[in-house]
Amino acid sequence: MLHIAIVGSGPAGYYTAEAAQKKWGEDVRVDIFDALPVPYGLIRTGVAPDHQSIKAVAGRYEKTALSENVRFVGNVRIGEDVEITDLAALYHAVILATGAPSDRPLDLPGEQLGNIFGSAAFVGWYNGHPQYAELYPNLSGRHAVVIGMGNVALDVCRILAKTEREFAGSDIVGHALETLARSRIERITILGRRGPHQIAMTPKELGELGHLSRARPQVDPDDLPPVDDDAILEPGLRKSVTLLRQYAEGVADPAKPLTIEFDLFASPSKFVGEGSVSAVEVERTFVENGRAQNTGETYQVPADLVVSCIGYQTNPIAGVPFDTRAGRFANDRGRILPGLYAVGWAARGPSGTIGTNRPDGFAIIDRIEEDFASGVISAGQRDGRAGFDRLATERELDIITFRHWKKIEEAETAAARSGAPREKFVDIAEMIRAAR
Ligand code: NAP
Repeated sequence: MLHIAIVGSGPAGYYTAEAAQKKWGEDVRVDIFDALPVPYGLIRTGVAPDHQSIKAVAGRYEKTALSENVRFVGNVRIGEDVEITDLAALYHAVILATGAPSDRPLDLPGEQLGNIFGSAAFVGWYNGHPQYAELYPNLSGRHAVVIGMGNVALDVCRILAKTEREFAGSDIVGHALETLARSRIERITILGRRGPHQIAMTPKELGELGHLSRARPQVDPDDLPPVDDDAILEPGLRKSVTLLRQYAEGVADPAKPLTIEFDLFASPSKFVGEGSVSAVEVERTFVENGRAQNTGETYQVPADLVVSCIGYQTNPIAGVPFDTRAGRFANDRGRILPGLYAVGWAARGPSGTIGTNRPDGFAIIDRIEEDFASGVISAGQRDGRAGFDRLATERELDIITFRHWKKIEEAETAAARSGAPREKFVDIAEMIRAAR
């Protein structure tokens, strides 16, 4: 019997479990660990609450989770409650699928001022991640600045811009909905340090900004290159740039008092304010050979709230080699050390779609098979599950199983606002109470 431990129950974790099951069938036992008592990682706490169709992929993970040879082991912090070395002694292979849950820092002067958040924290807040339930962003000012030209920046802009009614059918948590409903924000400026041809926004997500009931995207036509230049772009990016061109042609609409202003060629250089942020100082750039170059010209953008959406990094785990510059585990195509692997964002950094993790999961299982075949990892007897259960009893760990999770899910569904799929618990103790 092969025993495999997967750390992290998000998309990379469940696709990897599915791949192991497909490869070894009844000859494998997979334990999927999560620090939270609830599964699905990014699907639950990263994917926007108004993107329920993307979250539906959890149904696929549930199928894997409910099979006999895969087990969810929630509420266990690997690196704190249990060390990597403990898992390595019990399982033939340990696969880190921990994603990239922390913000990359901007490292700019003034970053410690109040009401400046990274997207991991801000998204975690509106998605009910227990770590960020008490973020309390202040939305009583008129100006918000969102830094970055990726899909997370779009999510944050859209959530800040929507009316309460536009959240119908979403699973945004109650505390965020209440705060957003009282928001006084009138202008959201999205800062991009490069130009329209370098945005990382996909057309579907960028297109959503054009269909908001009280907000209107605004692009400065002078920021756009001649239309013929778009011919060299790959089709997805060309569509996104075409949307920017449409937004540049838009006209003011009194029914849409909230503007989402694209400020391109604008690199943040410092935060200004006393106690709390009041402005972002920005340096004008131009793009040369694809890179942003500063012009030396600076100006200030009013900002009562700042959300920096410049990408994420993996949290290191004691004893696991880490590539600090790249912000992920040091690995060669998923291999970290003999018997220790990484998959998904923890291996390649935060890029691609949810679906990108599926081939990643299958590829890492192929590599593990190769490593068994070549003797890099021994197929000798390991205690696996039974050994872990003994360890958990010794350490008095309060483990949450998939069956417990289904009880939590039931309670969340029962507590949902009318039309919403669920009201998430945002407190770990409450999750555990619901589970029992
Ligand atoms: P991302 O796509 O890498 O975008 C990060 C943005 O931040 C880029 O525009 C980047 O500009 C900018 N940036 C980085 N460092 C900066 C700095 N120091 N100053 C100013 N700007 C800086 O990351 P993301 O938006 O966090 O998204 C992560 C992944 O999740 C992506 O693959 C994304 O597509 C995916 N995602 C998908 C969806 C969806 O499909 N609905 C939703 C959310 C996220 P440069 O290009 O100049 O570096």
